[in-house]
Amino acid sequence: MGWVDTHCHLQLDGRDPAQLLDRARDVDWVVAPGVDLESSAAARDLAARFPGKVMATSGLHPHDAGLWAVQGEGIVGLAPDAVAIGETGLDFYRNLASREHQIVAFRQQIALALELGKPIVVHCRDAFSEIFEIIEETGIGPRSILHCWTGGPRWTKRFLTLGVMFSFAGPVAFETGDTVRLGAAEVPPERAMVETDTPYLAPPPHRGEPNEPGWVALVGAALAGVWGMAVEEVATITSANATRVFRG
Ligand SMILES: [Zn+2]
Repeated sequence: MGWVDTHCHLQLDGRDPAQLLDRARDVDWVVAPGVDLESSAAARDLAARFPGKVMATSGLHPHDAGLWAVQGEGIVGLAPDAVAIGETGLDFYRNLASREHQIVAFRQQIALALELGKPIVVHCRDAFSEIFEIIEETGIGPRSILHCWTGGPRWTKRFLTLGVMFSFAGPVAFETGDTVRLGAAEVPPERAMVETDTPYLAPPPHRGEPNEPGWVALVGAALAGVWGMAVEEVATITSANATRVFRG
């Protein structure tokens, strides 16, 4: 069974990436998203070290959006070799950067993705309406990947109309994940992908441990439960989606 882990910060994990990939036997390939200039360059290096196995993105996370003025140029420079732009987006829960900085960096990265014809990886926390409006206004919807999607049915149905892809992570398998599962039930499998968000958000029975790509199958199994499908079928469909989105 071949999974694709579409959001796996291998370069932010202190452990040996070769070992983590090696024990992820059911994982065909992973996407390593950059969150700033340094981690975007590190993702590019991992992609060169593991060709066909690790794909890199280049971007600036909303937590560090205040750095766009100093790091934007470098991130743009790495973009042509990346499979996607991001991780960008808005996080109005933790607000580690000002809302103004987050919105500027998000819009700049959307413009870059549109210019290069690449997809964009979007982090969305407590900012559903703002992200909806920006995606709608810019027309980036069909190239948008909403990573670690946690929206309930109402927001999920609204975002579906924009043509986005939804990437599900550990929360869809959490005991407390009923809202996420109700949202996932609204998503047609051909609009979904799976991820671990390594090293964060390990799914049960590993909660609290550092996450790793091999556990993406636990996310896929939770989706299979939501959709009433065989786990193998979820792997086939979500991996085909990932290939189309990132390597099409
Ligand atoms: Zn991330």
